[in-house]
Amino acid sequence: MQEQTQILNYIPVDELTGSISVPIYQTSTFVQEEPGVHKGFDYARSNNPTRKVLEDLAAKLENGTNGYAFSSGLAAIDAVVKLLKTGDEIIAVDDIYGGAFRLFTHIYEKFGISIKYVDATDAQNVANAISDKTALIWIESPTNPTLKIADLRAIGKIAKEHNVLFCVDNTFASPIAQKPIEYGADLIVHSATKYISGHSDLIAGLVITATEELGAKIKFIQNASGAILGPFDSWLVIRGIETLSLRIKQHAENAQKVAEFLTTEKLIKNVFYPGLKTHQNHEIAKSQQKYFGGVVTFDLVIDDKELASRIVSGTKLFKLAESLGGVKSLCCLPCEMTHKSIPVEKRYQSGVTDSLIRLSVGLEDADDLIADLKQAIENAVKVNVETASSLN
Ligand SMILES: *Cc1c(COP(=O)(O)O)cnc(C)c1O
Repeated sequence: MQEQTQILNYIPVDELTGSISVPIYQTSTFVQEEPGVHKGFDYARSNNPTRKVLEDLAAKLENGTNGYAFSSGLAAIDAVVKLLKTGDEIIAVDDIYGGAFRLFTHIYEKFGISIKYVDATDAQNVANAISDKTALIWIESPTNPTLKIADLRAIGKIAKEHNVLFCVDNTFASPIAQKPIEYGADLIVHSATKYISGHSDLIAGLVITATEELGAKIKFIQNASGAILGPFDSWLVIRGIETLSLRIKQHAENAQKVAEFLTTEKLIKNVFYPGLKTHQNHEIAKSQQKYFGGVVTFDLVIDDKELASRIVSGTKLFKLAESLGGVKSLCCLPCEMTHKSIPVEKRYQSGVTDSLIRLSVGLEDADDLIADLKQAIENAVKVNVETASSLN
């Protein structure tokens, strides 16, 4: 069965009424027949039937045993870190999502958990960093915003050899494009805010585990810490997942066309997209991803923030906003937006220059998106020339 068929087939019909749409159980508690005798639901932080449908669906999508839904991607990441204890160490990818960096470094270091950041495009760097304190390897692939790829199979093997937990933040790829459990991941997290829900209309997170044992631990943390996803947002995420496979395919097709167009523009220096043969990790990406995703990044031949800023302000279809993964195309200037809090030197080290622009390619027609970028680039340059000549 094709994945799109599987997804639709898996979402259960409501047994009580036959409702084809999953019912939203907007309740805090459940009436019991006798003390402790109930239908599997007692209090909605612990368990909610709508959330349960989403959690089972998430596990299925990632070929895991258990899934858990959280109030944000960061709450999901937080739940995984809570598996650790004081004295443990995390080895994390160096261009990690900024929010994960903030959580690891500014919250968990206080509790005696240490973090080592490594360039994970070479799996050997991960192996070299492992010590007897290492408890968790944290990988994102592709990374944000320069779309670096880590060899998940190689890192999965290293994690097994050293008996260390391996977690992949699979937000950028989505479960349709990449299934890290097949490559040895023990845990997967998603910001379901992005591709999984897909409509830029909510904040949500997921954790999926490779074993029942880890599942029970995450379930305990979810209930103990309480950062659960509410029933209405759970329902919206389920509805998003109904079209996930179709969307990812189209995002990737559009992104490939946009990336190829960008390589022909004189003003552009580098185009970062794992689907381009020129991408430094294209072969690894091809070996582990079914699709190359919908995010495309590029920088300019002149590293000029003003010029880049005019481009992102001049697009009409690409809306200027943070976030990604929705049906509507977005663009952003990381140096002024998502990566503003990172010190300039560190930002440049990870390739986030002043002129770097990130696109989240949506589901509009690719030709329209290309025309939009073309006009924005032409107009931005024109202003530049006018400005230049007026200065003469
Ligand atoms: C957005 C994002 C997160 C955080 O998710 P929220 O839903 O915003 O809390 C984590 N990881 C990656 C890769 C993201 O893009």
